[in-house]
Amino acid sequence: MIDFELNDEQKAWQKKSRDFAEREIRPISLKIDRDPSHVFHWDIFRKLAQEDLLFLSIPEEYGGRGLDPITIALIIEELAVGDAGLAFSTTTNIYQPLQMFGNEKQKKKFLPGICDPQDPGLLSFAITEPGAGSDVTALTTSAELRGDEYVLRGTKCFITNAGIARVYTVFANADKAKGAKGISAFIVPGDSPGLSMGKVERKMGFRSSQTAELILNDVRIPKENLLGDIGSGFRIAMDYLDVARMTACAAVALGLARAAFETALSFFKKSPEKAKVTLGQQIISHTLADMAATIESSRLLVWKAAWLIKKKLPVAKDSAQAKFLASDMCMKVTADALQLLGFHGYTDEYPLEKYMRDAKILQIYEGTNQIQRIVVARALLAP
Ligand SMILES: Cc1cc2nc3c(=O)[nH]c(=O)nc-3n(C[C@H](O)[C@H](O)[C@H](O)COP(=O)(O)OP(=O)(O)OC[C@H]3O[C@@H](n4cnc5c(N)ncnc54)[C@H](O)[C@@H]3O)c2cc1C
Repeated sequence: MIDFELNDEQKAWQKKSRDFAEREIRPISLKIDRDPSHVFHWDIFRKLAQEDLLFLSIPEEYGGRGLDPITIALIIEELAVGDAGLAFSTTTNIYQPLQMFGNEKQKKKFLPGICDPQDPGLLSFAITEPGAGSDVTALTTSAELRGDEYVLRGTKCFITNAGIARVYTVFANADKAKGAKGISAFIVPGDSPGLSMGKVERKMGFRSSQTAELILNDVRIPKENLLGDIGSGFRIAMDYLDVARMTACAAVALGLARAAFETALSFFKKSPEKAKVTLGQQIISHTLADMAATIESSRLLVWKAAWLIKKKLPVAKDSAQAKFLASDMCMKVTADALQLLGFHGYTDEYPLEKYMRDAKILQIYEGTNQIQRIVVARALLAP
């Protein structure tokens, strides 16, 4: 059965996050974007925690909200209307490998400390390396078992929350001869000796989210911090990304596209004279209609992927479709919105130039859109 009606609880979460984005995020979004330091703004993150808008997927027994994936997609869309980078930072604590693949002891040890509303923590997923982006099997970070400890050594790059996360999932190879089958996932506390932050990236957009190098210089962690089985790291990373890209990218794309669309729409609504002239031109009114329709169609793909996750059904193809369509849509909608406003759009009088810069990353992270098309094609061509 297909049912597009949100229940009362979902509507309440949607309203709560919409109000929060309007009240707390929108007013500071441009200020953060123009902050030359490109570092994380803890004050707004703490406010999100106090309003119960963090740790959305983490079960209540570990201090999270235990919400279903559809409700989470609704919340992330609303937060991303306020600021896409901040909404993305929020998603780094949703469906992390620790929650998805940790054993009971590991979850009890690490998750409640993260979910403290007074002192909320960040999680981080570290797989990318200078020579291992789309092809993560090429990673060179090593893990060596010495007695009861693993010793990790290597450098990760472009890591969201690097240097500020309380707990990391680090992917390293414990048996290089086995290639991808030698990769394992390890839980690394943020205060581990030997773990440090390298260069903080100065990004084109998404400046409310911190991206930096993560350096592991003989970091020793207890044997029991191995996540899942030895050699299961590649599978863990792929299964995690199949789920994560629905919230961390596709739902964020919906909110960002909506912010751009609503800016353009209100521009014409507020200037009836301008609207009369420009909306008379079919190309303008058609562009507005296309924006609305493509946002709506992407939302359906996001909701379908969220529904599959809720039902614990295979989601790789659907989340890849949602990811590349929603992010391509977002890139086009932000560019079209800017175009519709002409020179107003190109200046910082309106936030459209920021939206366009923010949109670009959505086509790159969580697996590039080229790679997502390969995932879909593989599923289509499978025997
Ligand atoms: C803001 C930001 C945040 C990030 N956060 C994280 C994080 O938290 N954790 C983490 O581990 N990583 C993170 N990343 C890294 C991100 O996941 C990678 O940038 C991404 O996977 C692409 O890798 P790459 O940049 O090395 O590009 P490459 O893999 O070098 O790709 C370059 C180009 O070639 C194309 N390409 C590559 N292989 C193929 C192929 N087989 N077929 C067709 N085209 C191909 C790509 O699509 C792309 O257009 C982040 C990146 C950014 C920019």
